[in-house]
Amino acid sequence: MIIPINKHLNLVKSKRAGFPYCYCVLIKDQTRVLIDSGCSSNIAAELREQGLDIVINTHFHWDHTRQNQNIGQVQIWCHGLDAAGIRSANVHMERYGFNAFAEEDMGRLFIQVNGITDRPVHRELKDNEILDLGKVRLKVIHTPGHTPGHCVLFEEHSGILISGDIDLSAWGPWYLHICSDLDDYLNSIEKCMELKPGLVISGHKGIIEPDLGARFIAYRDQILHKEEEVLGALDRPISLEELSLLRLFYGFKIKSDRYLQFWEKQGVYLHLQRLIRQGLVQKEPDTDLYYRI
Ligand SMILES: [Zn+2]
Repeated sequence: MIIPINKHLNLVKSKRAGFPYCYCVLIKDQTRVLIDSGCSSNIAAELREQGLDIVINTHFHWDHTRQNQNIGQVQIWCHGLDAAGIRSANVHMERYGFNAFAEEDMGRLFIQVNGITDRPVHRELKDNEILDLGKVRLKVIHTPGHTPGHCVLFEEHSGILISGDIDLSAWGPWYLHICSDLDDYLNSIEKCMELKPGLVISGHKGIIEPDLGARFIAYRDQILHKEEEVLGALDRPISLEELSLLRLFYGFKIKSDRYLQFWEKQGVYLHLQRLIRQGLVQKEPDTDLYYRI
């Protein structure tokens, strides 16, 4: 479904908005642009029929790039730091942490089941670049943390922020992969807040308008709250495996899903790395135990 937001911007809504799909934005201007391509194949066919010039991916994740190759003869643009994750299925797999945590078999299955292949990127975007599409001018803002090259796009004239996976979802921000960085994520949320957008189009929540300042603060605070929970669990030396079993991120859902268990472990790992950087936690030499200082 394609829902007009204003004269040029349209929300592209598929039946599902969770992985492996997302909300996309269609810009009908002198240049016709789709922001993210995580839509259903029916919508991709409709967009192909209408004609597009450019697809901009906010980041390399499959749920934001899945239709890049099915949407016609378009240019694919994304930030330089995420281009490799689109160009190479192997890099895509590495950035999800499968190699770092010795789960290559699971990674290959993930790539195969989702049909992830090597795909082109034609232009690498840079922070603060202005993309002039005719009437619409989009500012590219590099917002790393979710992935190294994650970007949001800001239309200053209307105050509309296309926020990708800084998605303001209620359960907690996504930073459960080895290529995520929590310090960067927190800074990027601040950057979005400072823009003072009047309307946000989130990759998984769609249009969000009221109380945006409070929504960003609540979103940021979920990271800090999760960190307190990890720190609280370190009342004795404890391994990453044990910490992962506390299900701080996914709760009961994790029991039956091997992938969720895997993401959970990486989320805890990222918090531990941040707590070590802050001097609050240490890892015991020659063991896999972490403890609070
Ligand atoms: Zn993502």
